[in-house]
Order: sequence, then structure tokens, then C-alpha cells
Amino acid sequence: MSQEQQEHGPRSAPAGVEEHELIAREDALLSVENLHTRFDTETGTVRAADGVSFGIDEGEIVGLVGESGSGKSVTSLSLMRLIQDPGYIPQGSINFDGEDLLEKSEEEMRQLRGDRISMVFQEPMSALNPVYDIGWQVGEPLRVHEDMKMAASRQRSVELMRQVGIPSPEDRVEDYPHQFSGGMRQRAMIAMALANEPDLLIADEPTTALDVTIEAQILDLIRDLNREIGMAVLLVTHDLGVVAEVCDRVAVMYAGRIVEYADVKSLFADPRHPYTKGLLSCVPNPAEADQELEPIGGEVPNLANTPDGCHFAPRCPYEVDECHSVDPKLREVDENHYAACIWEDPQ
Ligand code: ADP
Ligand code: MG
Repeated sequence: MSQEQQEHGPRSAPAGVEEHELIAREDALLSVENLHTRFDTETGTVRAADGVSFGIDEGEIVGLVGESGSGKSVTSLSLMRLIQDPGYIPQGSINFDGEDLLEKSEEEMRQLRGDRISMVFQEPMSALNPVYDIGWQVGEPLRVHEDMKMAASRQRSVELMRQVGIPSPEDRVEDYPHQFSGGMRQRAMIAMALANEPDLLIADEPTTALDVTIEAQILDLIRDLNREIGMAVLLVTHDLGVVAEVCDRVAVMYAGRIVEYADVKSLFADPRHPYTKGLLSCVPNPAEADQELEPIGGEVPNLANTPDGCHFAPRCPYEVDECHSVDPKLREVDENHYAACIWEDPQ
């Protein structure tokens, strides 16, 4: 513990201010407030999203980062209302363009999905249907939402496939998913997600399975579309290098909670949550080839049995008694920079 911490001691959030009031903005395109998603299992209730709050402005790219098992995919699926039994959302709100998605009917959600909000899933095979050719699938959102006829949608599919970098798309449009490599399937799924130029793209680790060259191409494509059509993006990744390159803001997730939320520059220059500090110290600095990596010790807790107080306390080098009883809420530690730690700035 630093001298400064000993002198000033831990600080609590100002009384009476709910964290989602701090970070949810009225004019945001998407505003997630106090979202809880749970799975009732034989071994207990998994709290995969445990009071998640963050927002995405129009045309903004927000990264959602955290180790595997921290709840990123569950949060993404919750936004699309795609959580299935035994999962459920007992609490929270998901405001999209002023309307709460949790209040919408299944039919209303179907109209939004693939039109105003699209998702690229972590596993492309789960999103592609093996019995239809790629052209049929890429063009489906256009037929469903835009009433496009089959011939026109096929033609548009070829253009979209070209746009995502699938070579000779006119020859591949009638191929089936199993005839595509993993990277090409991922591109096809991205083409499908982009067909209707959504207002918001939720991309769950869209490049994790791809080699670095293709990864760079896909990220460029997402960024181009973000600039050209003003598409907002929630980019889920465990790769901070990707975040630094592509995102405007970052939400850091740990064990079902957002622990830090800030614009990219501020997060990388001055991380305030011990977990973010730990993550950043795991990133090799290309300028120092022999730099030692210091991975964070321990593991993400079992989300069916999270510790009381701060979920990160058992792994935290700054942990004090209070951390095991107080749930730290996000609070503003610098301008537009939020962290959920009792320390203002652990050194
Ligand atoms: P991430 O995407 O950050 O790697 P996930 O969102 O996939 O993490 O998972 C968060 C937690 O939710 C994990 O503990 C996972 O085991 C649990 N989980 C996800 N889906 C289910 C499910 N269908 N049933 C039970 N637990 C689940
Ligand atoms: Mg995931």
C-alpha cells in the first residue's frame, strides 16, 4: 500500500448517487442500467451479469474487455434478448434509442434484430445454418426487413461478401457454410450482420479465431463502416491491443460487473482499477522486447459463488478488510472516467 493510501484511506462513493445515474446518458444510443442476468443451475445461481451499467453513443465504438468467464458474452446476448432457459433477466433496463428492450415483445425484438441491431457471434457455425447456401443467408435480413426479392438480395449478397473481403464472391455465393474456412465463415456472418446497415453492431470476439492478417482486415472493415454509416459498435474482446487500436471507450468487466469505464486514452494512460492495472501489465510493450509479463495471479471466481464485497478482492494487491464487505460502485474518479474501487487511485 502506498504512503498516500495510508494517509487518505479508502473512499466510498458519494451517498445517494446510483452508479447508473452517473454513467447512463439520456442521449446515448444504448444505455444499459443495472442489468442482472442469471442462470439457475443444479450447482447454484450463476450471476453472469451482476448489475452491469454502461452506455454507447451514436457512432461510437465501445470495447467490452475482461478475462474469459467474466460475463461478456452473456451481457451481449442479454442486449439482444437472446438469453435462453435456464437464463433470465430479473432486473435492469436496456434503453435503445429511448425504448427499453426488456419491455418489448418477442415479435418487436425480431423486427429490431438484423435490422437496427445486429450481432456477430463468438462461434460463427452457431449462427450460420448448414442447410442454406451463404448467399441465401447473407441476403436474408434484406428479404425479411427490406422486402427485397430473392434475385436482388443475391446480388446484394455478392456485394456484401466482396465488402468483407471474401475473394471471388460471385463464385462462392452458392457455397454452403461447411465449404468455407473459419475465417471466411466469420466474414460471411459479418456480411450478414451488416446487410441492413444497423445502428448498432454487437461483435462478440469477432476476430479471436482468425489469424492476425485477417483480424486486421476485419477490424478495418468495422472501423470503416463505423465512419461511413455512423454505425455504433460494442466490440467484445479479451485483447487490449484490439481495444487500443479500434475503440473510443472501454468498459472493463470482471466477474459479472463493470469495474472501469473510460475513454481509451484515459484508460491506458491512467488505469484506476487494480484489475485494469493488472490487465495492462500483462500487455507486452512492443518497444521493450524483453519486458517481463506479470499476469494477474488467481482466477475469475465461480459466478455461482462470488465472494462478498468486491469480486476482485481475493486477487487484489491493494485489498483491505473493507473490500470483503463493501460492494464498490462505479464512481467518477476523473472526468468521464469511472472506476469501482474503494481506492481513488491505487499506486
Ligand atoms: P465471457 O464471454 O466473458 O468469457 P460468458 O458470458 O460466456 O463469459 O460467461 C459468464 C458466466 O456465465 C460463466 O461462468 C459461464 O459459465 C456462465 N454461463 C454462460 N451461459 C450459461 C448457461 N447457459 N448456463 C449456465 N451458466 C452459463
Ligand atoms: Mg465470450
